[in-house]
Amino acid sequence: MADDIQNNQVAAEAEPVEIRDTDISFDCPNCGKQLVIDYRGAGLEIECSFCGSHVLVPIPDGMQLADLDLDPGEILKQLFATRRNYQKAELEIQRLRTRLIQLQETLSVMQEAIAEGLGEH
Ligand SMILES: [Zn+2]
Repeated sequence: MADDIQNNQVAAEAEPVEIRDTDISFDCPNCGKQLVIDYRGAGLEIECSFCGSHVLVPIPDGMQLADLDLDPGEILKQLFATRRNYQKAELEIQRLRTRLIQLQETLSVMQEAIAEGLGEH
């Protein structure tokens, strides 16, 4: 399961076990480890499977968009999916910001309580 690329999704493989001709192999600019990715990942941003930093997959010399053998409908579908994910991420950020503010309020209330408790003794 670990080595599978789920649902044809772009995923960096942890180990360069099998490098196919069509794979793109490059070094993570952050940790320098070798990443191997399916050619369809060209130009996409992926998460390095070693250090987790976001890295841009290089586009091989001479590669044409047509080489991606995706029909326009498929590309459009992926574009919409990307936009939906982007929207979801934005909502998640908002939700986390709200949660952060709540936690900060709770923390300051607790700190006050602790300060008062210490003052009484
Ligand atoms: Zn890395």
